[in-house]
Amino acid sequence: MTDIRLFDSHCHVNFGHFSEDRDAVFVRMAEQGVEGCVVVAVELAHVPELLTLAEARDNVWFSVGVHPNHDVGANEGEPTVDALCALADHPRCVAIGETGMDFFREHVAPEIQEARFRTHIRAAKAVHKPVIVHDREADEACMRILRDEGVDVCGGIMHCFSSDWDTASQAIDLGMSISFSGNVTFKRNDALRAVAARVPDDLLMVETDSPYLAPVPNRGKRNEPAYVRHVAECIAEVRGVSLAELALQTTENSQRRFRI
Ligand SMILES: [Zn+2]
Repeated sequence: MTDIRLFDSHCHVNFGHFSEDRDAVFVRMAEQGVEGCVVVAVELAHVPELLTLAEARDNVWFSVGVHPNHDVGANEGEPTVDALCALADHPRCVAIGETGMDFFREHVAPEIQEARFRTHIRAAKAVHKPVIVHDREADEACMRILRDEGVDVCGGIMHCFSSDWDTASQAIDLGMSISFSGNVTFKRNDALRAVAARVPDDLLMVETDSPYLAPVPNRGKRNEPAYVRHVAECIAEVRGVSLAELALQTTENSQRRFRI
C-alpha cells in the first residue's frame, strides 16, 4: 500500500458533508496513499475556510474561484480579475477555479457564465496559475472561450472530464490536463473509459470531486479523497498499466501542473 502515490486533483472537503469527521477523512486519505489534494472553491465566501484547511496541513492546497452555477446575488456581485488575483496571492493557492460553462443546470444565464469564465482565465494568466474548468454539456462554448482567451499561457485542467474524444483532443491541443473522476468507473461509461485510455501520459490526472460522484464500489455514498484510488485502478486497467505506475504518473502530473 505504501508504494502507491496518489493525488486527488479536485475535492470539496470543506463542505458541510465532512463537518462530523473531517480529520478521519484525512487519515483515510493518507492510509490509501493519497499524498495530497486540492480543495477547490465554488464561491469566494469559502476562500477563508479553504485557506485554513491548507495552512493546517502540508499536503492540502486550495483554489480561488466562483462556480459557473453559483448565484452570486446582489451583495456579492460578479468576481473581478482584481478580486480573484488578490485572493489567489497566497503560496498555498495553486489554481483559479472552478470556472467554466454548465448548460445542464443553467442556474446562471449562459452570457453571465461566459463573462465569468473569461474573467477567471484572465486572472489565471495574471497570477500564472492554472485554471480549473467545469464543462457540463458545454463542450463547444468551453473550447471556444479557452482558445479565445489564450489559456495556453497559464494552462489548466478539464476537471471531471465527461465529454468525447473530440473535445479531449481539442483541450490537449491547448495543453490542458484531463482529470477523471468517479464517473469513469460507472458501468455504462465505456465511451469515457475509452477516452481515458487515449489521453497522453503527461496530461492525465485523477480526482474525486468529493463529496459527489463516488466511484464504484462506493457509488451513491458520500465520496472522499481516499476513493481516488478506485478511479486510478479503473484507468490503470483500461490503459494496461499497473496501479502503482498510473498513480505515480498522475501524481507527478498534478504536482507539475499545480507547481507543487
Ligand atoms: Zn468540483
